Amino acid sequence: MRCPYCRHDESRVIDTSHDTRGGVRRRRECENCGQRFSTYERSILATPLIIKQDGTREEFDHEKLSRGIRIACAKRPVPAADVDRLVGEIEATLQAMGRAEVSSRVVGDMVIAGLKEMDQIAYIRYAIVYLGLDDLRSIRKEIDRLLEG
Ligand SMILES: [Zn+2]
Repeated sequence: MRCPYCRHDESRVIDTSHDTRGGVRRRRECENCGQRFSTYERSILATPLIIKQDGTREEFDHEKLSRGIRIACAKRPVPAADVDRLVGEIEATLQAMGRAEVSSRVVGDMVIAGLKEMDQIAYIRYAIVYLGLDDLRSIRKEIDRLLEG
């Protein structure tokens, strides 16, 4: 760690403390000028890249996912806060996986599962697009599964 006073690269750690949020603070002394300074380290959770169906990768886009869910929830009694919470939960789950890349299917499945709990009409709308239900028979099969479940 470079000394902020003389820019020397070597320093000695004289004290290490951990805070409640998982961060580490180190008190250091420069080996060149003897000045003391502190460094703070914390880990940052990274959201994995999303592998799209055509094989390309894209950054997880919180706003884009919210928009897709809000469209499915149009004119349904679903509070915007619930959509935000679902997207937040999905992002946290992705981060907790600790992987560099995740298939877009994983994200889609989490949306489907979340919407199923929140609003069945919104769920069917999203499923029609996401599962590619493009004929009445498969849409009816999905509705039947909901009614039975
Ligand atoms: Zn120094």
